[in-house]
Amino acid sequence: MARFLIAGGAGFIGSHLCERFLGEGHEVVCVDNLITGSLENISDIKSPKFTYIERDITKGLMDIKGPFSYVMNFASPASPPDYLKYPVETLLTGSLGTHACLDVALRDKAVFMIASTSEIYGDPEINPQKETYWGNVNSIGPRSCYDEAKRYAEAATMAYHRKHGVDIRLLRIFNTFGPNMRVEDGRAVTNFVCQAVRGDDLTVYGDGSQTRSFCYVTDMVEGIVKLLYSNVTEPVNIGNPAEMTILELANVVLERTGSSSKITFHDLPQDDPKKRRPDISRAKEKLGWEPKVNLKEGLRKTIDYYLTKLEV
Ligand code: NAD
Ligand code: UDP
Repeated sequence: MARFLIAGGAGFIGSHLCERFLGEGHEVVCVDNLITGSLENISDIKSPKFTYIERDITKGLMDIKGPFSYVMNFASPASPPDYLKYPVETLLTGSLGTHACLDVALRDKAVFMIASTSEIYGDPEINPQKETYWGNVNSIGPRSCYDEAKRYAEAATMAYHRKHGVDIRLLRIFNTFGPNMRVEDGRAVTNFVCQAVRGDDLTVYGDGSQTRSFCYVTDMVEGIVKLLYSNVTEPVNIGNPAEMTILELANVVLERTGSSSKITFHDLPQDDPKKRRPDISRAKEKLGWEPKVNLKEGLRKTIDYYLTKLEV
């Protein structure tokens, strides 16, 4: 049995990870300040091997008793409306919060994983994005609080690896969706599904020609687990390479929900990346991982989840 420290464990992806590692028989300590997460995401967990600590990770974690075998930093606002609302908190969480997690990993000789993001590639000039691409980020734009926090978190992770020999995993997550995303989370899949089931207009930003590649959460968790248990210390993209336009996504959601909602067009947020698609050859080669759940299948499960949440 191993002990896991999961920062951000009451969030969307973090809550799935808590369940996954408890399911493997391990002990999980989940630390979260609930800034964008919810206790509802972990309320079904009854295991005596689970501990929840309400804490802002920027305040430090060294008083939490170790040793841990794995320290995973998934704490950070992640939805654009969330990090635009909490820009300073996002920067501090990516920087001070990541240091706090790294210090525990250093103390315990634990494997440290940072949840980085496709956003470190910014508005990419190449498509698909390989891990070797350095990115195109506007350091003073509205999204910079998130992008630069994650770039800093990667840099801090590399510094602890080089200076102290911490065993690291650099996970670059591409757009992921599924149950446990807040109804008011504000990301495209949640907005479109909730709007469609409520009969509201689907709000497409810009003309909807910008692309994303959506990964269902069970595939993401599988990729995360494979990376964590590997010995790969270089960055690895985990995401589904099936790229589509946002207008296509809106239409698939309408079709899957059978909704008669309309699509309306709104201003495109500043610096919204025009294209995004992961090159997953490294994950395939080094982890033997690739996604299995297609968009329609993932949407079916997600729609069922929101039907219960919204009680419609
Ligand atoms: P989320 O907002 O649902 O979860 C983040 C969790 O972190 C929340 O529970 C929040 O309360 C917690 N948190 C934030 N700041 C904290 C702090 N200072 N101290 C303690 N807890 C704090 O987001 P998510 O989609 O589950 O994302 C999880 C991680 O994965 C984030 O680091 C995010 O940047 C990364 N990521 C997610 C995606 C995606 O598509 N979901 C894509 C790329 C990267
Ligand atoms: N988007 C949209 N309508 C919405 C929410 C998002 O058109 O209600 C667009 C957004 O502008 C972006 C894409 O959908 O181009 C994906 O947005 P999301 O917030 O899900 O993630 P991002 O990849 O921008 O972090």
